[in-house]
Amino acid sequence: MGRGAEVVVLEARARIGGRVLSHRTASGAYNLGPAWVWPGIQPRIARTIQAAGPALTEQAEAGGFVFQDQTGGTQCLPHGFAQEPPSMRIAGGIAALVEAVANGLAPGVVRLEQAVRRIALTETGVAVTAETRSGPVTLHAARAALALPPRLIGGIEIVPALPPSVQAALAAVPGWMAGQAKALALYDRPLWRDAGLSGSAFSQAGPLGELHDASLRGAAEAALFGFFAWPPALRAGRRAALPEPVARQLGTLFGAEAARPREVIIQDWATEPFTATKADQVNGNAHPDYRPIALPAPWGERITLAGAEAAPEFGGYLEGALAAAEAAYLG
Ligand SMILES: Cc1cc2nc3c(=O)[nH]c(=O)nc-3n(C[C@H](O)[C@H](O)[C@H](O)COP(=O)(O)OP(=O)(O)OC[C@H]3O[C@@H](n4cnc5c(N)ncnc54)[C@H](O)[C@@H]3O)c2cc1C
Repeated sequence: MGRGAEVVVLEARARIGGRVLSHRTASGAYNLGPAWVWPGIQPRIARTIQAAGPALTEQAEAGGFVFQDQTGGTQCLPHGFAQEPPSMRIAGGIAALVEAVANGLAPGVVRLEQAVRRIALTETGVAVTAETRSGPVTLHAARAALALPPRLIGGIEIVPALPPSVQAALAAVPGWMAGQAKALALYDRPLWRDAGLSGSAFSQAGPLGELHDASLRGAAEAALFGFFAWPPALRAGRRAALPEPVARQLGTLFGAEAARPREVIIQDWATEPFTATKADQVNGNAHPDYRPIALPAPWGERITLAGAEAAPEFGGYLEGALAAAEAAYLG
């Protein structure tokens, strides 16, 4: 792309952030996508935090840890697993970082509701056609950087078409957490702490498989979040009814009062067409070994993959997204 290049960002959704999304209350922003960063080992995240200035807090893990087995039975252990380095959370949510970056861009650089449907190689670069509210719009540029999960490239018509082996290679790269869903439960107070519990739990019974305290520092409310153990197909069949089994499980894990959260918010990424594909309809538990992906000539001279799943390091993570974007811009 080259330093100093003029850049336009075409974003399919009506909002910025992609997998970064918040649920906002009067107390602040809760993460429905990524929540944790590790600035001690992630230099680009550390620089972004330093420039944006939000406060950092360690993920609350103090207190007992609940384990739920396949039968639904629970066991309280004196402490959970210590994360090293500790997972850090950002005041204002991860969205605060995204907003800080976006605020530094000139007006008009980011264009929302422009879903890219076609990229044609031209004599001098690329012709990129996006679907907009007022019909298709084609932009001409020297290069295109695709900062999205590689499987989504299968939904874009590339002209000339990529060789079948390259299409298959892209389709084989899972979007990290693309098939996952998060539940957020809001309470008036962190009642689990009354019983000496941290709010962390692992469950083999579901619907949630891994839970943590999501409370905001100094807030007049408290929260827990959990990743679903139930796969996308099981969630799909009972979309509107999901808060009920989630609340029931919270009661089993943290005591009867926890079964009555003020509100349960569910964010199911597997249902989002600009995050997940049909192939992502599984809970990706093991972190894939992501590698940089370069398209062969002639496509590679014009089209660069720049999302977290094509990162030179920290593939799949926010740091990976920054690393891949940096490589695309400077490369
Ligand atoms: C539930 C969950 C928890 C996670 N937890 C963590 C965590 O704690 N820490 C961490 O580091 N990472 C975590 N991740 C991963 C993190 O979210 C990703 O690494 C990061 O968001 C990837 O950024 P990206 O820009 O590469 O992709 P995305 O965030 O997916 O952005 C891609 C963008 O492309 C847009 N787009 C897609 N198709 C088109 C098209 N045809 N035309 C135009 N625009 C299009 C999308 O709308 C989106 O805005 C988590 C992810 C999820 C879902």
